[in-house]
Amino acid sequence: MSIHQAQRSIPLAVPNVGPKEVARVAEAVASGWVSSVGPEVEEFEAGVARVSGTKKGVAVASGTMGLHLALIAAGVKPGDIVISPSFSFAATANAICHAGAIPAFVDIEPDTWTMCPADTGRLIREDFEQRHDGLFHRTTGRRLAAIMPVYTNGTPALIDEIAALGRENAVPVVADAAAAIGALYKNAPIGSLVDLTVYSFNGNKTITTGAGGAVVGEDAALIQRVRHLATTARVGTGYDHDQVGYNYRMSNIEAALGCVQLERLPEFLAAKGRIRARYEAAFDGVPSLTPFPDPQYAQSTHWFSGIRVDPSLAGTTVPDMVKELNARGVGVRTFWKPMHLQPHFREMPRTSLSFTDSMWEQVLPLPCSTSLSAEDQDYVVDCVKDVLRRVN
Ligand SMILES: *Cc1c(COP(=O)(O)O)cnc(C)c1O
Repeated sequence: MSIHQAQRSIPLAVPNVGPKEVARVAEAVASGWVSSVGPEVEEFEAGVARVSGTKKGVAVASGTMGLHLALIAAGVKPGDIVISPSFSFAATANAICHAGAIPAFVDIEPDTWTMCPADTGRLIREDFEQRHDGLFHRTTGRRLAAIMPVYTNGTPALIDEIAALGRENAVPVVADAAAAIGALYKNAPIGSLVDLTVYSFNGNKTITTGAGGAVVGEDAALIQRVRHLATTARVGTGYDHDQVGYNYRMSNIEAALGCVQLERLPEFLAAKGRIRARYEAAFDGVPSLTPFPDPQYAQSTHWFSGIRVDPSLAGTTVPDMVKELNARGVGVRTFWKPMHLQPHFREMPRTSLSFTDSMWEQVLPLPCSTSLSAEDQDYVVDCVKDVLRRVN
């Protein structure tokens, strides 16, 4: 390896924060509005709602907190069950447990990597029974309280089918759209497809507030319930509270960062799309590699781009490729280990999860920061091809 190559260090996904963000955050600090009330919080909430095609949005301190409150607001109670894909980041199932419920895991679709509606429908039909007050899990006796699809890599799930399951079974649908701000479903913004939709603005997401999240939805009363829960369930301006509440609001300093990031969302989405297209073209015709899904019905945000590696054709595995790529200065790592394989979730109700089991170890996200140069991306491509060549 040449010295030139050894000096490269290309991170997987880093935030893109510039002088405008710095100035806006400094202004917010100087204004004295540093806590969870302030003009930037209002501006950010309005902006997030606008991008989502909804009237209302609530900014919260993390995506996980947004999921937690969305589930409670949607009526999830301790002892309930929430159906969700096993193939997700831990926050999805964690939030279900924070609400006092347990997850039931379903498989994902091979060509979207999002919740499989057929598997979800089958689970409901076969493992739940109708009683006068709802659908109950036959073996655990738990009530089905919500369905929670995940918009994997910013790709909206098959929402027509999933929303229909929600309607037919009279259960709310809460979407984990952590990485999907700016996505479109059948050419429309995604904020009103299901009851509540939750974003994350953690540092590695497409836009960031440092740490943060938001909940959007069409139903003003439901959004108001999320806001109420997030602000200690306070009633009026005194110290009256009408239930156990949470302190989950985003700070005005974080929102100031978010306001500038939101203005730059089109720039970031364009960069993510460009990066995805460049990888797709570069690996086209390599039999062991397939790009991450990008289904026609949606405009994905392409949060992460990368490849699925068929080990029988590649002659190597993703963990070994990660080691080889890291040695060449390419900052990659393996991707989500499904939730049903985590020790604390092994006993949760689930379907066979055969596709999830077959694919998760083959997923290799590649560097996709919005600031990634074409030259650095070409270097990543060359490194991947070099690693494959060496084993064959
Ligand atoms: C990032 C992420 C979250 C959690 O967001 P935080 O803001 O880190 O709490 C939830 N679900 C998925 C799918 C994510 O990628």
